[in-house]
Amino acid sequence: MNMTIPFDNSFARLGNAFHSRQLPVRVAAPRLVAFNDDLAGVLGISPGDAAEQAQVFGGNHLPEGAEPLAQLYAGHQFGNYNPQLGDGRAVLLGETIGRDGQRRDIQLKGSGRTPYSRGGDGRAWLGPVLREYIVSEAMHALGIPTTRALAVVETGEDVLREVTLPGAVLTRVAASHLRVGTFQIFAARGDLTSLAQLTDYAIARHYPGANGPMGLLEKVRDAQAALIAGWMGVGFIHGVMNTDNCAISGETIDYGPCAFMDGYHPDTVFSSIDHMGRYAYANQPNIAVWNLAQLATALIQLADDRDAAVEQASEIVHAMPALIEAQWLARFRAKLGLTTARAGGQAGDRALIEDLLVRMAAGQADFTNTFRALGDERARDQFADPSAFDGWASEWAARCVGEPDVPATLRAANPAFIPRNHQIEQMIEAAVGGGVGGNMGGDYAPFHRLNTVLAQPFADQPDHSDLKRPPSADEAVQATYCGT
Ligand code: AMP
Ligand code: MG
Repeated sequence: MNMTIPFDNSFARLGNAFHSRQLPVRVAAPRLVAFNDDLAGVLGISPGDAAEQAQVFGGNHLPEGAEPLAQLYAGHQFGNYNPQLGDGRAVLLGETIGRDGQRRDIQLKGSGRTPYSRGGDGRAWLGPVLREYIVSEAMHALGIPTTRALAVVETGEDVLREVTLPGAVLTRVAASHLRVGTFQIFAARGDLTSLAQLTDYAIARHYPGANGPMGLLEKVRDAQAALIAGWMGVGFIHGVMNTDNCAISGETIDYGPCAFMDGYHPDTVFSSIDHMGRYAYANQPNIAVWNLAQLATALIQLADDRDAAVEQASEIVHAMPALIEAQWLARFRAKLGLTTARAGGQAGDRALIEDLLVRMAAGQADFTNTFRALGDERARDQFADPSAFDGWASEWAARCVGEPDVPATLRAANPAFIPRNHQIEQMIEAAVGGGVGGNMGGDYAPFHRLNTVLAQPFADQPDHSDLKRPPSADEAVQATYCGT
């Protein structure tokens, strides 16, 4: 083996209360589909060759220094507390401290059963694995905190869902996999020793200098507020913002039934299981606050003076909506090309943004293409009734007077390319190809093309302008699935 990974496994050292040692389960015929050389470089991995990568990131060969384990956590799923979840289909291989000095987890997802599988098979099929690779790397290129994707390996095994599908393993890289649910499980069990140990660990790893549990709560709040504003600014809908899918680091994590909107509407929901619209686009700020309140509830238990801690935690949580709002405003002002503060306060800018969004919703305007086209004549073409845009544009033009460089601000804030759902579906179809039934050899050209184009989402890339096109009526994806 020529591949080396400089592991330093702080979570494994934390002790048995937090995880179960678990080897990845061997797969029949691992074959490398994708490897992220740039990310490997950042992690300090000397990559070896494709055959080795398939062995390591398929789970058949354990690299030196790995200490694989499944992490324990709980979580509120759609508002209901589930007292035990955990990595049911993933193992943490270990951590590296990268060339940039950052500690990151390297995790295999789809690596077989663990003590936390709860009746599941521990596997993933190729579709959601490719989806997470594309969407997480696109999110990174868009400048929004996210877990990343290091490798995809076909397992050469069938996975049985409603039909038989080709199996795959995703190698995911994260600042950590600590979730709100990681704290909840120890709080719910009354295991305050472990909860305190976890809190100290999280502070040391993510927010050194944070002052105790309430200091941590504040830092998580700020990171989550920035994250949600980032999602709103690119039309992203996570789809399953359960507390077990809410990372302490502030990274986007667990890409399941997620999607970017095409036509703008605040109530947009894709997830097939989200019947009430709990995780609809415009409800994400509310849910982020709800999730933070669950973290607060857990952390309060560590206080000697509970009453004082409740008061302090409430203050921290109650400040979150205004923080999200401020970040949202900054993002959307930039999306209108504005950098200067408005004379007389921000209320006018908020109204200007909301007026555009209301017109976009009514006019079925494409979210990404409308903002990208601001400042040229194509913007009005995005609206079913272009005069609806004209009515807004005159006010916007007046607001732009005195702004230093509106076109440059617009281009830097508004991507030309996002991973559109119908393109992802078409990419998966090509990759699976005749492969349903575990028969390999699909067409990965669309996967590699999407990956290349989405690495530079703010560049025009005229050769790929077909990827800017919203779906036609028969291409539109109506529902997305958790993909387990
Ligand atoms: P997720 O929807 O990916 O956030 O997963 C929710 C929970 O279900 C986590 O504890 C997962 O580990 C578990 N899970 C999801 N899919 C599977 C699977 N195929 N086998 C075992 N556990 C799974
Ligand atoms: Mg999850």
